[in-house]
Amino acid sequence: MATPYDLLLKGGTVVDPSQGLHSGADVAIKSGRVAAVAEGIPADQAARTIDVSGKMVTPGIIDLHCHFFWGVGNGVDADKDCLPRGTTTVVDGGSSGANSFQGFRRYVLERIRTRAFALLNLSTTGMVDLRTSEFGCLTHADVGAAVRTIEQHRDLIIGLKTRVSNYVVSNDPIPYMKLAREVADKAGTKIAIHIGDSGIPMSEIVPYLNEGDMVVHCYTGRRHGILDVKERVLDAIVEARKRGVLFDSSSGGNHFSFDVARKAIDQGFLPDIISTDITVGTSKEADFHMPLMMTRHLALGMPLDEVIKASTLIPALAIDRVPKLGTLQEGAPADVTVLDLQKGSFSLKDTVGANMAVTKRFEPVLALRDGVVASEIV
Ligand SMILES: [Zn+2]
Repeated sequence: MATPYDLLLKGGTVVDPSQGLHSGADVAIKSGRVAAVAEGIPADQAARTIDVSGKMVTPGIIDLHCHFFWGVGNGVDADKDCLPRGTTTVVDGGSSGANSFQGFRRYVLERIRTRAFALLNLSTTGMVDLRTSEFGCLTHADVGAAVRTIEQHRDLIIGLKTRVSNYVVSNDPIPYMKLAREVADKAGTKIAIHIGDSGIPMSEIVPYLNEGDMVVHCYTGRRHGILDVKERVLDAIVEARKRGVLFDSSSGGNHFSFDVARKAIDQGFLPDIISTDITVGTSKEADFHMPLMMTRHLALGMPLDEVIKASTLIPALAIDRVPKLGTLQEGAPADVTVLDLQKGSFSLKDTVGANMAVTKRFEPVLALRDGVVASEIV
């Protein structure tokens, strides 16, 4: 006999910041969409029930900064390295540029089973070989090519990526910031900048950013991060936040300092967005995933519901392509993550060699993409 629901996640604690929800509830799925979130939905109402007692059920985790142009540069296989680790949506952080995006689209974005979007690199080549800068010369920062590519692929390109570090743009990022601003204004899109080790302070760079633009690696321990010499959050950073610039605490292998994060958080400076910046190197650590990044923030004092919000709702709004993404509202795509918030004694390390003892950690249990269990997607 036909049942009202295809799948029921039963007995978990649902945390959905989009609805202010944090309580025991079952999640019912029908035809790839969330059909109901309520207490005590009977198991016989669904064709299949998965017991998630004691687990946390959240909207599908979104990783707004990954590198998954597989086979090119440092790109991981998102279906192997992200989806099974609890991430249901990935956004590539500028691995491709105008001259490589079409291949990235056809052979990766349109084929993988993880929901996928991209930031386009201001450089026409993108990040094909990190031993050299993507800007061999300023010719690679081609405004017209970037604008055309963004306009042609607006369904999948959510913004423009520019790295402002001295190993990318030498000591003067301003010409690149001006070109990035020009592209973003002409194409009507947003900019995400990769910071750390820039030749000039952030206070000279962030004035080029507007509402909705993003600063990535906000807790970098490298030179010219978000703190001033007195270790206060720079006035220019506070002002940028006031006008709606978003801050992403993306880690990668080089850009997450517990010390910087603690000092910023003590001053009330929490990230808007949590992401991994996963690449081939970091993907080799089995626990390098969004749940690890979320664990770090929980340990640093970020409230749990805020941690979930920065990993679901806020990145979904930044993507702004799929109605109700990042939520478990009725009718939302049934992208769902099940997490185990384990208690015990665990040790975390940052990217500058510091350790932190923690008593709770998130582990990924299950991910659903459009209502299908990730491990069962073929
Ligand atoms: Zn990156």
